[in-house]
Amino acid sequence: MKISIDEEKCIGCGTCEVMCPEFFKMEGDIAKVVNELCDKENIKETIESCPVGAIIGRN
Ligand code: SF4
Repeated sequence: MKISIDEEKCIGCGTCEVMCPEFFKMEGDIAKVVNELCDKENIKETIESCPVGAIIGRN
């Protein structure tokens, strides 16, 4: 899966970094993807946990 973040939607809550620090890192008020290719199962849970649906996962 390839992951990205819609920076227009991100509200900087930090949930993604807490759940998956190997893939997301906060930079100021916006989360950045630090490792965009992912085959881990728990990334789906992180995508669903984003309160504004800003994390995009494509197979
Ligand atoms: S969980 Fe969503 S809103 Fe929160 S920092 Fe990550 S991408 Fe932004």
